[in-house]
Amino acid sequence: MNCPSCDTTLEKALLANVEVDYCARCYGLWFEENELQWAKDSEDRDLRWLDIDLWKHPEQFRVDYDTKMCPKDRLPLYEVCYGDSVVKVDVCNICKGIWLDRGEFKEIIEYLKQKEQHEILHHYAKNALAEIWEVFSGPEMLKEELLDFFTILKLLKYKFATQHPVIAKAILSLPKL
Ligand SMILES: [Zn+2]
Ligand SMILES: [Zn+2]
Repeated sequence: MNCPSCDTTLEKALLANVEVDYCARCYGLWFEENELQWAKDSEDRDLRWLDIDLWKHPEQFRVDYDTKMCPKDRLPLYEVCYGDSVVKVDVCNICKGIWLDRGEFKEIIEYLKQKEQHEILHHYAKNALAEIWEVFSGPEMLKEELLDFFTILKLLKYKFATQHPVIAKAILSLPKL
């Protein structure tokens, strides 16, 4: 698979059993839909942290054409924005994969901090991932960063899984190019 932004071959990283493809040139991240992973985590689905504001209200999605291609299907991605946030992700309507440009991950964290919802997620992820840290020996700062990463990863998976029909509908109603 090639990077949707700079066409470099994507590399694979494994973080606590979560496989992520990333671009070693532009540091974009590609998340694939993983049905098995979701099934395994399905008991988490109705937990409180799902109620945070980001991506909660279907009418706040704005979908537009994108110039990037899905690394898997080689078909165009769609740019999804939400409400008053600067958060922007690229979504594939076929494989439901999600692309984040470098910095977009941090923007999601910043937005959640502004809305005072980051702590809820952060604590949730901390408990859910407790066993990972038992074998983690890196610096504390990296740990915080990874925790944020997992928080967003979970958020993206759940939110886009539950909201995908809304996004798909918005894609269908786009004016034809
Ligand atoms: Zn790239
Ligand atoms: Zn795709």
